[in-house]
Amino acid sequence: APLIGVVSLQGGVSEHVAALQQCGARTRLVRRSEELGGLDGIVVPGGESSVLDKLSRAFGLAAPLKAAVAGGLPTLATCAGLLLLSDELTDAAPGQQTLQVLRVRARRNAFGRQLASFETSLSVKGVGEDVEAVFIRAPVIEQVGAGVEVIAQVDDRVVGVRQGAITALAFHPELTPDRRIHADFVSSVAAHLSLAA
Ligand code: GLN
Repeated sequence: APLIGVVSLQGGVSEHVAALQQCGARTRLVRRSEELGGLDGIVVPGGESSVLDKLSRAFGLAAPLKAAVAGGLPTLATCAGLLLLSDELTDAAPGQQTLQVLRVRARRNAFGRQLASFETSLSVKGVGEDVEAVFIRAPVIEQVGAGVEVIAQVDDRVVGVRQGAITALAFHPELTPDRRIHADFVSSVAAHLSLAA
């Protein structure tokens, strides 16, 4: 079974671990750079992106994580994880940095007060129709660069993209019983492995 790391600095870690295991993956919590070694894929969970940014730099994980993702390690990033990977943010916290491996500009907390948290179902390209999606103070992707494919939208707002081996979602697939997103990620990691073999 593929070994998938879950960045474990802050936020929705245990739900991603459970979802990945339900889809047949082995998992490893990742806090330090050594724990990136030997992984077949990685998940960057949601939480609070400015905290993720600070902790990842404090733990010395930011630069090696950037290198791993930029080097083609299959990656699933959700919500604050998406923000951490982005090239550029709108409404960043003071001093907030990003890893700049995903060629998008993302806006933090983009749905406003009324819609701060909501649940909907949406179509995710390559995954299926009516995928359950929980949004919590979610970002939207305001602009996509070259080689970035839009895979999910709410009305006309972009909430999911794919760039090479990176899948980035503004919502939380780990918070619903719908396992199709994780199943698709685990099988794409397995396919990537057998290609490399
Ligand atoms: N609003 C959060 C941020 O800026 C993201 C919320 C989430 O991950 N659910 O990081």
